Amino acid sequence: LSSGMKTALPVLLTLIKHGHEAVFVGGAVRDLMLGLEDKDVDIATSALPEQTMALFPKCIGTGLQHGTVTVMVEGNGYEVTTYRQESPYEDHRRPGSVQFIGNLEGDLLRRDFTINAMALGADGELHDPFGGLEDLKNRRLRCVGDPDARLQEDALRMLRGVRFIGTYGLSPTLSTWRALRRHRALLRHVAMERVQAELDKMVDGPAPERSLAWLSLSGLLKHTREELNLPEPIDCIDLSWLGELPGKDNRYAALFIACGMDGAAAFSCMSKLRFSGKRMDAVRNRLDMHARYLLVPEEADEDSLWRKTVLEYGREAAAEWLEMALLLPDELAPGIAGKGGGYRHVMESLPVSSARELSVNGAELAEALGKKPGPWTREMLLRLLHAVADGELLNHKEVLISQGMKWTMESNHEPK
Ligand code: ATP
Ligand code: MG
Repeated sequence: LSSGMKTALPVLLTLIKHGHEAVFVGGAVRDLMLGLEDKDVDIATSALPEQTMALFPKCIGTGLQHGTVTVMVEGNGYEVTTYRQESPYEDHRRPGSVQFIGNLEGDLLRRDFTINAMALGADGELHDPFGGLEDLKNRRLRCVGDPDARLQEDALRMLRGVRFIGTYGLSPTLSTWRALRRHRALLRHVAMERVQAELDKMVDGPAPERSLAWLSLSGLLKHTREELNLPEPIDCIDLSWLGELPGKDNRYAALFIACGMDGAAAFSCMSKLRFSGKRMDAVRNRLDMHARYLLVPEEADEDSLWRKTVLEYGREAAAEWLEMALLLPDELAPGIAGKGGGYRHVMESLPVSSARELSVNGAELAEALGKKPGPWTREMLLRLLHAVADGELLNHKEVLISQGMKWTMESNHEPK
């Protein structure tokens, strides 16, 4: 058993002690067979949801109508789901209803792929009626039962399938792949939030380039409910470096750059995928800074341009872009390897990186100049910020105020 399973074992044993069957199922069993760390441990049981709830003082009826109860043990939550079978699917996404059943095999039968349809008992016995272990050993992705039927029932399975292929380095069986290609247009029945969740796991997984290549080959991306305007095909470009980048934001940004998309195109794609505003900003900032980098003219004063970028986006965002850019192949960020050190030095040696760090604030400026605070205060602070960052002024209150006065007098003399 994996470490997660060991902590969950008391849940299994309690159910068994009370005369029910209980086993580990799904991803945790698959990952254990692959020798991978498991993330979440799922349990299947013959006990009805109310029977499970009666046995554990702390539990939440997460998905009671589907038979799922979350049992809390020592701060960890485990999803305990009653063996069930499903009635015909509605809308290529969800079963019309589920029926609770008494036997494990019936429950494994409703699962998507053979590698996900294995169960492990508390005694370590593997229940594997569809040859999932064999498929795992042969690195094969195969639907449980008839691929046409299974992928049509629930169109999300096509995306999950591509994710498993990429993540675990599998090849689909011929019939599973053909069915997937045949029914890919059904992806329009899947909510964009779910597409995002799967895409996130692919991009953030151990081999994003492989998942994305298969995704592209599947043609699924052309059939999302809302059109993603991603340039196709991405299956033939070299993304082998993508997995070196840490974190989803970096990987998405790098992927958009590699696809030749600008900030606006990426933004539209991300909003269709229902990214949070915060994530969209993080990715978009990287793209915008990258576009600036690519546009720097040969003869330009690079340090000064870079300082402006740092001041505009903030030191933190600038550092994030730089970290990403240094991991891109040279053709996507020409010359960055040689310039990165200099950029970092400029960034780190800036005396100030935001108006908040100036020794004077808007109210103090207004008072010293005998004017009402207004939009001009913010403008003046920014101008002072740039002057300090460029080393033209010291960050001392008196220096900043007298410079402010000087600018005010000059502008009063300018003919309007
Ligand atoms: P991971 O947790 O790595 O995303 P997983 O296989 O554990 O992968 P979960 O969504 O946690 O995926 O689902 C747990 C199990 O439930 C799966 O292993 C599979 O047996 C079953 N399952 C999940 N989604 C579906 C689906 N859409 N169709 C059929 N079975 C599914
Ligand atoms: Mg799981």
